[in-house]
Amino acid sequence: MVNWVRARTPTDGGAAGVVDTLARVMERLGGAQSAAAVGIASAGLVDAATGRVLRAANLPGFDHPVPLLRLVGTRLAREYPHPEPVTLALDNDVNALTRAEATYGAAADGRDSLVIALGTGVGGGLVLGGRVRLGPRGFSGEIGHVVVQPGGRPCSCGGYGHLEAYLGRSALEHEARDRHDRGRHSLLVDLAGDRRMSSSIWDRALDAGDELALTLRLEAASALSVAITQAATLLDIEQVVLAGGFAPILGRPFRAEVDRQLAVMSVAGAPAVRGAALGDQAGAIGAALLVA
Ligand SMILES: [Zn+2]
Repeated sequence: MVNWVRARTPTDGGAAGVVDTLARVMERLGGAQSAAAVGIASAGLVDAATGRVLRAANLPGFDHPVPLLRLVGTRLAREYPHPEPVTLALDNDVNALTRAEATYGAAADGRDSLVIALGTGVGGGLVLGGRVRLGPRGFSGEIGHVVVQPGGRPCSCGGYGHLEAYLGRSALEHEARDRHDRGRHSLLVDLAGDRRMSSSIWDRALDAGDELALTLRLEAASALSVAITQAATLLDIEQVVLAGGFAPILGRPFRAEVDRQLAVMSVAGAPAVRGAALGDQAGAIGAALLVA
C-alpha cells in the first residue's frame, strides 16, 4: 500500500523550516522506524554526490549551499534512534521526475526521450538507451538554459535569451507585466493584481482570448520548438515529454504550434511531443526510486 502525505514548502524558516516540514511528513507516514530508506527530490541546483542543494531560487533560505541530506539525517537520527541508520539520498526534482517517467510513465517505452518540466522555471532530463543520463556534473538535459534567442530576454540564471526566459511561468509573468506597463493592456495583470500570476490566471486569460496571453504563448511555442530542434538534432531524440503544472495550462493549441514548427525545422524527422503520465506525484515517485 502506498500512503501519500502532502505538505506545503514553508516560505519562512529557511533550511530549518524545510527540515521541520520533512520531519512532520515522516511522522504522519508512521515515523522513520517504518521506513527502510528516504529519497528526497529538491528544486534547484543539487549536488547529489555530497547531498547538498547548492542554490534554489524558489526556496527561501537556499541562496547558498545547504547540506540538506546531513540536516535531515541528523534530525531523523535524533527523533528515531534506529539500530540501522536509514539510507538517505538526494537528487534534483526534475531528474527524479524524469526517472519516474522513464520507469513507469510516458518515457517507459525505451525510446530516447527528452523530458521537459514546465513550472516556475523550465527544467529538463534526458533518457538515453532506457536510462536517465545525468552527466558527470548532473546537468544533462538542462534545456531551460540553452540559448533560443542570442541577446534575448534576461534569464533567472543571469544569462540572456535562454528558453526559461520565454517559457517559465515566472519569466512570463515578468514579461506580461512589463508589456502591460508599456501600454499593452492585459487580463493577466487585471486578474493577478499584486498577487502571483498563477497557472489558473493564465488559464482564464487564455480561455478569454486575451491578446497578450496568446502572443506570449505563441512566442513560448517558438522558443520551445527551437530548443527541441537543437536537442533532437544533436542527440537523435525520438520523443519529448512535457511535464510540470504549467504544461496543461498552455494546452492543445500550444502543442499543435510546437508540432507545426518542429515539422518545419527538423532535419531528421520531428520528435513526437506528448504529455507526462504521472502528474505531480512524479517527483516523489522518482525520489523513492533513488533508494529503491
Ligand atoms: Zn538561464
